[in-house]
Amino acid sequence: MRKAALKTAKSRLDEMKRGILREIKDDLRQGREGAKEDGMDTYDLASEERDREINFILGDRERDKLQAIEDALARIEEGSYGVCENCESDIAPGRLDAMPFSLLCVSCQAESEKEARSQRKFDDERAYRRLGSTEVDEDSV
Ligand SMILES: [Zn+2]
Repeated sequence: MRKAALKTAKSRLDEMKRGILREIKDDLRQGREGAKEDGMDTYDLASEERDREINFILGDRERDKLQAIEDALARIEEGSYGVCENCESDIAPGRLDAMPFSLLCVSCQAESEKEARSQRKFDDERAYRRLGSTEVDEDSV
């Protein structure tokens, strides 16, 4: 990957990361102010506890995104940024432009989404089968 493109990607990722961290800090500050009214001092929280607090505040989606951004930044440092984590082919520049934290190329991403979907479908079918064996009247509903 060209240096200029890497630099752009890095600054965009940094920006995204800052945005997410800023939201977390705002939420934490609000939480602290609430806690102080109860006479508690949460400034002395052990970092493990603080991590738990952050994890609690962050939704799954934000947490995944922050993780993906961290991974992408680490890969810029390593020099492996822009290469698909799965098949090691180059990720299309347009894709990196739209989602600088992409770790998979378009086809591997589609493949992994397909797998996730079929896994969900499989789970659903199993649940239905379990239901079917206990609910005898299913057909007459
Ligand atoms: Zn791939």
